[in-house]
Amino acid sequence: MNSQNKLLKVIENDFCIGCGACASFPNSKINIELNEYGMYKANLKKANNEELTKLSNVCPFANTKDNESTIGQELFKNDCNYDEKIGYYLNTFAGYVKEDEFRRKGSSGGVATWLLTELLNLGYIDGVVHVKTNKKDKDVLFKYAISKTSEEIREGTKSRYYPIEMSQTIKEVRNLQGKYAFVGIPCFIKAIRLLSKEDNLFSKKVGFTISLFCGHLKSKNYLDYLIRKMGMEPKNVIYADFRKKVEGKPASDYALEVVEEKGGEQIIHTKMMKELVSDPWGTGLFKYNACDYCDDVAGETADVTLGDAWLPEYVKDSGGTNIIIIRNKKILEVFQKAHEENRIYLENLTPKDIISSQIGNFRHRQQELGYRLFLLEQKGRWYPEKRIKPSSKNISKKRCLIQEYRLKLAKTSHDAYLKAINQNNIQVFEDIINPLIKKYRKLYKKNFVIRAISRIKRELSSKGENN
Ligand SMILES: Cc1cc2nc3c(=O)[nH]c(=O)nc-3n(C[C@H](O)[C@H](O)[C@H](O)COP(=O)(O)OP(=O)(O)OC[C@H]3O[C@@H](n4cnc5c(N)ncnc54)[C@H](O)[C@@H]3O)c2cc1C
Repeated sequence: MNSQNKLLKVIENDFCIGCGACASFPNSKINIELNEYGMYKANLKKANNEELTKLSNVCPFANTKDNESTIGQELFKNDCNYDEKIGYYLNTFAGYVKEDEFRRKGSSGGVATWLLTELLNLGYIDGVVHVKTNKKDKDVLFKYAISKTSEEIREGTKSRYYPIEMSQTIKEVRNLQGKYAFVGIPCFIKAIRLLSKEDNLFSKKVGFTISLFCGHLKSKNYLDYLIRKMGMEPKNVIYADFRKKVEGKPASDYALEVVEEKGGEQIIHTKMMKELVSDPWGTGLFKYNACDYCDDVAGETADVTLGDAWLPEYVKDSGGTNIIIIRNKKILEVFQKAHEENRIYLENLTPKDIISSQIGNFRHRQQELGYRLFLLEQKGRWYPEKRIKPSSKNISKKRCLIQEYRLKLAKTSHDAYLKAINQNNIQVFEDIINPLIKKYRKLYKKNFVIRAISRIKRELSSKGENN
């Protein structure tokens, strides 16, 4: 198959994540558009064949020449060790920022925002390309933007579970002098690496890349749904914090905080996330289809990857703790110096600890991807070439069903929400999605015999501890 067809196939078969890499060249005829489901997608209609052939090389889902392993190998092989699940690594840590307000204001330990300001203050970069509040358009609350001062970088703190694209920002960067740090979820960082390979001038602008661990990307309708569940009109909401920390609660038990503008007044509303929606990440509601075919959990092509330390010893601290994978020597030095100066807390973790902290994510995205590809193959559908091959082996019947339900839940959530909006009645969505969620949950229920054996085992082991 030639590479021109691959980019078209990505679009036609709904594997586009809408990152905007293909639309980021000057005079590009490709537009990135927000579709009716609230997801960015590339519109290729105006592009000619020559353009499409060239651009398929920068699409993170086309996999024309490179994948995450080949990119990682080129960049990090000489200095790093390799792990099958997290890719190359120089060092792995848990940590948080001690100085200033980075941790209090960040999603986890505040390390991302701290590191970005540190790189700027050290003169290693001239600016940062990351996701910030969009002050210009009330319809799109968050977007990629460039920060050039420490204050501007700090304004961009927090995780935005919201669709984003970077075509316009990359176009801006192309016209700027200097080097920039790019922050993104793994497929966006892969796109930055692919763009750098294709475009020598652009590659000179990439100082560092910082990836966030990623479960999946949510459509705009995810926030829309949460706002309506809180009893507000989405058009009145001007800001949302998806990760409001709640003192005394585990770090994983966070709230949604939104600012509503009504009658010239700004009102802050806060609600615990679990009261609004239960397990949105496990069920995969409002998930991009592409995310179910991405096996890069740990941002394998980035200089450093940051996530949440979802491990018992850290999760109980409401302040939030990061997991950190470092692949770049210069970045390791920055961390080590700040640790010596007692400005950050750092503790060594093993790659195994990192994997444990994201165990469900690795199981879904890597271990069980083969089964999702097998399902596509059975239907005779096209899919991008992955590092993991289609297979229905080594997966239990129950896990197959869980995968099938997750695919169905994600797809149904998009259609059902559109239906609900068209009828101006959120209950229409609930009536369609809740029975499906109920059936999905049943799959996790252990039968009577297994429950009895587990109980006996628990009792025996607790007696053993008491002896
Ligand atoms: C869609 C999404 C899914 C995620 N899934 C997981 C997961 O499964 N497991 C896990 O451990 N961690 C996940 N994370 C990462 C986690 O939420 C934190 O962002 C990470 O731990 C860094 O925390 P921090 O306190 O150091 O970051 P902060 O100091 O709060 O800074 C966050 C930085 O990320 C940038 N940013 C925010 N949203 C986006 C976005 N959508 N795309 C690109 N850049 C953005 C901000 O501009 C800022 O520079 C996810 C993040 C996102 C955005």
